[in-house]
Amino acid sequence: MTKINTTLTKNPKNLPPSDKLGFGQYFTDHMFVAKYREGQGWYDAEILPYSPLALDPAASVFHYGQALFEGMKAFRQDSGEIVFFRPEFNYDRLCEGAARLCLEAPPKELFMEGLKKLVEADERWIPNGPNTSLYIRPTLIGSEGFLGVRPSHETIFFIILSPVGSYYAEGAKPVRIWAEETYLRAAPGGLGAVKAGANYASSLKAALAARQKGYAQVLWLDVEHQGIEEVGTMNVFFVMDKEIVTPALNGSILAGGTRGSVIQYLKSKNLPIVERKITITEVIEKIKSGELKEAFGTGTAAVVSPIGVIHYQGKDWDINKGETGPLSTQIFTEITSIQRGTKADPFNWIT
Ligand code: PMP
Repeated sequence: MTKINTTLTKNPKNLPPSDKLGFGQYFTDHMFVAKYREGQGWYDAEILPYSPLALDPAASVFHYGQALFEGMKAFRQDSGEIVFFRPEFNYDRLCEGAARLCLEAPPKELFMEGLKKLVEADERWIPNGPNTSLYIRPTLIGSEGFLGVRPSHETIFFIILSPVGSYYAEGAKPVRIWAEETYLRAAPGGLGAVKAGANYASSLKAALAARQKGYAQVLWLDVEHQGIEEVGTMNVFFVMDKEIVTPALNGSILAGGTRGSVIQYLKSKNLPIVERKITITEVIEKIKSGELKEAFGTGTAAVVSPIGVIHYQGKDWDINKGETGPLSTQIFTEITSIQRGTKADPFNWIT
């Protein structure tokens, strides 16, 4: 395996106050960087002090958006042990995304060793207050300086770390969401199923407009403005009388790790979880008839984020009277307890 060199910082930063971490505001003392060049393979793998990257201004990441990332977490459990939540899932998803974006994925050992060594170097940064964790952002970029439109022959893989608190400043309060009928996050054949930076660039304008109208997130619909895809940067679940529905993966939805964990958990409880197409028209009908009991988003950052209101075609529709529902609470508690080690891990999610 490519050797990983380590240079530790001579100027460690002060730790941020653990009750005011927010999300992605603070970065640790170190980062991991490794480089790849076609014909040469992976080289210059190192842990080094957190610092700016020097890149050729012609690098493909700047012009053609060859950028892909992952989002995962490490936890300091009450026993003092430091654990990762489903790192293999994130490695596999990174590989799928790299193939779609014509970037080189790092070998698995390099990914796992880089991750472990970096978290060890920055161990003092892992918070242990309620709902805190170390958010991990592995990233791949096309770094070759060349202006022809073709895949970069060079890739940089880096990992940065950010101690985080609750994703939402207001805690797990249900959010108001806007069903978006103009902008799309992704379309069939596009990049929606991978964690390409371009998907987030595509999402910003609609999210900003929704926020200006008083909605926290966008409910993303498909090209026909009917099929529900995702909510904000999360997968979405609808709890109804006879079934719990999450949109089936259709090629433009990102297969979230949390989505998978929630499905696994619900199945283990013999709850009727179904992956199928669900339209905004059906959801509004089921709100009207009283069949829709709860709705929530799932993702690494917030774990579970209840939906209190959906705005569709000029009208606000309350879900569960705008309150957090029992299943949202149950799933949040279950997954976060396994992460924190206060509950056994029957699913082998912890490494
Ligand atoms: N969809 C999108 C667009 C996302 O950015 C995320 C967060 N990474 C998710 C879904 C949820 O994925 P995960 O559960 O793996 O965090």
